Amino acid sequence: MIQLFLPLNFLGFVYREIRRALTDLENMLGLLKRAPQIVDTPDAKPLALAKGAIEFNRVEFGYQSQRPILQQLSFSVPAGSKVAIVGASGAGKSTIARLLYRFYSIGGGSICIDGQDISTLTLDSLRRAIAIVPQDTVLFNNSIRDNIRYGRPDAGEAEVDQAIELAHLRSFIDSLPQGDATVVGERGLKVSGGEKQRIAIARAILKKSPILLFDEATSALDSSSEQAILQAMREVARNHTSLVIAHRLSTITDADNIIVLKHGRLAEQGTHDVLLAANGEYARMWQLQQKQQR
Ligand code: ATP
Repeated sequence: MIQLFLPLNFLGFVYREIRRALTDLENMLGLLKRAPQIVDTPDAKPLALAKGAIEFNRVEFGYQSQRPILQQLSFSVPAGSKVAIVGASGAGKSTIARLLYRFYSIGGGSICIDGQDISTLTLDSLRRAIAIVPQDTVLFNNSIRDNIRYGRPDAGEAEVDQAIELAHLRSFIDSLPQGDATVVGERGLKVSGGEKQRIAIARAILKKSPILLFDEATSALDSSSEQAILQAMREVARNHTSLVIAHRLSTITDADNIIVLKHGRLAEQGTHDVLLAANGEYARMWQLQQKQQR
C-alpha cells in the first residue's frame, strides 16, 4: 500500500506546485485580464531591434466592437526618451500597455517598434524587447535573490548584484535576517508594495530589454517608498525607452513628453511645464492632486 501511496503523494505535491506556478504566472500577467488568444501570423518575423522607438499611428481599439476605447490615437516615444501616459480612471492608459505587449489586436491604425508593425512580428521577439514593471508584482516562494534573477534566469551573480544596487534594494536586503537568501512570497517574508515594485524594477534591469513599460501602482505609497522607486526608475530610464502609466502626476514631472488621454483620445501633450502653462486638462488634474496632497 505504502508503495502506491508515496508516489501518489509525490504526484499530488508536483501537481500543486505546478498549479501554484501557473497561478503566479497568470497573476504576474495582471495586465492580461481575459485576453483572447493572440498567435504569430504564418509569415511573422522576429523584431529587428535598433533602439526601441515606439509609434502609435491612428490606433483604434475596443474590447467589444460596439464600445470603442481608443480612438485615432497617435503618439510617439522616441528611442531613449521617457513618455508618460496620464488621464482619469478608465481613460485607456493600461489598454495602451496591453496593446503594445500585443495581448489584443487593434481594430485600425498601427503600432510600430523601430518602424516595424508589431502585428507582423513574432510574439516572442516582441515581448523579449519589453520589460514590464507591473502595478502589483507577484513574488514566488523563493529567496529574494532568486525572485530578482527571475528577470533573466541565466544572469551572472555580478549582474544580479548590479540590479540590486540600481533598483535601490541594497539597504532593504541588508536589513533582512538572511540577506538576499531570505525567502519572500506567500509563505515567506511579506514585503511592502514599494519594495515589491523595486524587486520588479530589478527584474526589468536584468531582462536587458530596450523598452521599459512601467505601470505605476494606484495605491498610495509613503513618500520615502515613492522616492526610492523614483530614484530606481531614473537609473533604469538612463538605458531604456520608457513608457510610464502614471497615476500620481508628481512622479512624472521630469518626463520628456506627457500624453493626456481623455475618453481614449489624445487631449493634449507636452512637458510638465508646457502643460501647466496651457492651463487645460493636465493643469486641472495637477491642481486637484496638489489640493488632495495638502
Ligand atoms: P485606471 O487608471 O483606473 O487603471 P485606465 O485608464 O488604465 O484606468 P483601462 O484599464 O485602459 O483604463 O480601461 C479603459 C476602459 O476599458 C475602461 O472603461 C474599462 O472598463 C474597459 N476595459 C478594460 N479592460 C477590459 C476588458 N478586459 N474587457 C472589457 N472592457 C475592459
